Parts: sequence; C-alpha cells; structure tokens
Amino acid sequence: MKIGLEVHVALPTKTKLFCSDLAYENQEEPNSNVCPVCLGLPGAKPVLNQKALEISAGIAKALNCEIGEKTWFVRKVYFYPDLPKGYQITQLDGAIGIKGYVDLNGKKIGIRRVQIEEDPARIIREKDYSLIDFNRSGVPLNEIVTEPDIASLEELKGFIEELRSILYYQGVNINQELKTDLNISLAENRVEIKNVTGVRNLIAAAEYEIKRQSALIKEGKEISLETRSYREDENETVSSREKETEEEYGFTFEPDLTFYDTTKLAMQKAVIASNAAKELADINEYNEKTIRELVLFNKRNLSLLEGISKEEFKKGVSLIEKFASFGIEDYSEEEFMKMLKRDVSSIEKDSFLQLLGRSNKTEEKADKEEIESGIKEMLYLDKTLLERGINDGKAMSFMIGKVKEKYHVTGKEAADFIQKVIKSMLNN
Ligand SMILES: [Zn+2]
Repeated sequence: MKIGLEVHVALPTKTKLFCSDLAYENQEEPNSNVCPVCLGLPGAKPVLNQKALEISAGIAKALNCEIGEKTWFVRKVYFYPDLPKGYQITQLDGAIGIKGYVDLNGKKIGIRRVQIEEDPARIIREKDYSLIDFNRSGVPLNEIVTEPDIASLEELKGFIEELRSILYYQGVNINQELKTDLNISLAENRVEIKNVTGVRNLIAAAEYEIKRQSALIKEGKEISLETRSYREDENETVSSREKETEEEYGFTFEPDLTFYDTTKLAMQKAVIASNAAKELADINEYNEKTIRELVLFNKRNLSLLEGISKEEFKKGVSLIEKFASFGIEDYSEEEFMKMLKRDVSSIEKDSFLQLLGRSNKTEEKADKEEIESGIKEMLYLDKTLLERGINDGKAMSFMIGKVKEKYHVTGKEAADFIQKVIKSMLNN
C-alpha cells in the first residue's frame, strides 16, 4: 500500500501573502478585506509578505528539508471563477524546501516539497447561482507534498500526529484548517481523493478508500486511475472526474516577483526549541513528542527539565503534566523543585495546592480561575482562532461554547465573563 499526501495549511500571518489586507480578521462581511492585488485586477503588483517567507522556511527546516539559497515563484495557469487573474501564484522548482523527511519511529516519510502559495477566493454555492467572497483570496498557505512512503492507515495516523506536533512549533494549528489531497494505491493505479477537509475526514476517507480498493482486488477487478472526492455525510468516496496530471497545468515564471534570498531568514527560534527538546529526550531516553509538547505548551518547561538529573527526569515530566492538569501555569522554579521532592502521583488538587503552600480559594473564585486557565490553554493551541474571535462573532461564540462545555457552565453571565477574559488576554 502506498499513501502520499498534499497537505495545505494556512500560515499565521497578520496580513495576506501579497498585499496588506488582513488575512484572518474582519472577515465576516464578504469582500470587505480586499484590494486590487487579491482581487486580481489588471496591473496590480504583488509584494511578498516577509513573515510568510520566514514561517515557511521554519516549516521547511523543521521537516528536515534542504533550503536553497534562493526561492522563487511560478504562475499555475488555470481558469476558475475563484481566481480571476487566471493563475495561482505558487512554487515548483524554486520551492522553499525540498527533499525533507518526517521521522516516524525510525522510518523516514519523505517530504518531496514545501511550497508557498496563495489561497484562492471562496465560492459559496447557492441553489441557482454562486457567490464569490474574496476575503480568503491571498491568504498564505504552505503545501506540504510527501513521497508515497506511508504504508498503512496506522502510519498515516502517526504521520499526521507527528506533523501536527512539528507544525505547532511554527505557530500552525492543523486542527483549525487542513485541506488534503490524498493519493492511495493498493494496486498499480493511483487514486487521488481531492480536497479532504480536516484531520478526522482525512483518516475516514483513507479508511474508506483502503476498504474499497481491497474489496475490488479480492473480486479480481481492476482499480481505475481516477480522482475521487470524499462525502462527509455518507462517509464514502465517489468518482469525480478524470485525473489531470501536473503536466496538464501551464506553469510559467512569475515575473512580478523576484528571487528571494533565504540565507538571512529569521527561522532559527522554533528550530532551536525543537532541537533542544529532541536533545533533552535523547539524553534522558524519553519520548520526544511528549517533551516537545510540554516545551511548546510552556517554553519555561524546557529550562526546568534541563535543570534536573536523568534520575529525576521521569518524575519531572509527570509533575509538569500534573501542574497542567490542575490548570496551574504560573508555577515558579522554586515551586517546581519543591514538589519534585514529594510523591504527588495520585494526589488530589486540593492537597496539591496545600503542599504547594497556596491558599484555598472560595468556590466561586476557583471556578473563574479555572475557566481563565482553560482559556489560556486554548490561547496556546489556537491563537489565530482566538485573534479571529475578536472581530468574528462566529469564532467567538464557538470558543465560548467550547469553554462552557468544558467547565459545565451555562447562562449569559458565564458567556459574558468568558468573552471578557478572552478579550482581555488578547489585548495584553
Ligand atoms: Zn489585498
């Protein structure tokens, strides 16, 4: 079995890829965040967002890619209403990263390419007509293309988990937005499933397709080379149209942009943190992913873990997890070292707080503090969503709903409180 992916993720930049319109904020009113560049008007000239370039380089580096000294763009020419200028600005030979890999418990899953590209506009299909919203046009994306090295559904799950963890470091949350083209071949012919949205659908689509192809093979039937699409409601893939290959698109050099020097990009911070987590895991013979997540959740955990011996390491990790599970984030090094000497493996929160020497709070206050730390946790994992929430009613209600659900609170007063906390944290 061979599985390959083309994964699209949105980059956490303030503005769009080639213009200064906001990429994610103030999106509620259709076609409100647009300009001649992202509308594709004749004569409008793109200017590359340096931040998007830096983030992409960080992603390429974290995926162990080779990064050339220069990177450049091409036009992928095709006609579609979501792309009125007649081409998408993307990358091919000059892609920011090539020939990388993701290490999956010793097996390397090849990364063919990491490329920067613009998102087209959003098409909203109504019964008798379609609408186009250009707010999304020009949002910076990375397309991550893997080699067909994934050999089972289990490996696919493992790869996505690993990718999720690596991308968090670069500020990218794949839970928020992930669009994947999925290639699966159990026999000779390759089947492509286009535009699968989200992690859950990706796994479900792969599972379905593996079953479908296995059944055909058992019946002695041929699997045809085709493109299919995944229908979420029916949980099945259906044939969509004839396969078109990369060669069928016209590609041409993008003359409005230049060659970009990658040698001086500030992409080191995340890479250093990632390397440090790896080193820490190696020295202490501990699971790397766990360490990476702890370090990501709170950068200070890195120095705390670096400061303890190998004998104490396992206990130190459990202690940090304990702090996190009790929603205590503002622990000092002193408190950490103090608790490290105790056995807190099966302790309740109240006793933990007492040992810590923190006073017991009133029930009411505890609830609010708990909610606050819960929101903070979301802020770490979902910063862009939270930022969006400030001006986007839907995103805000989604988040309020999540917090309410998590802490079993109801009513308008609770909602107002949660909203206030989110806003105050984002304004800091
Ligand atoms: Zn624009």
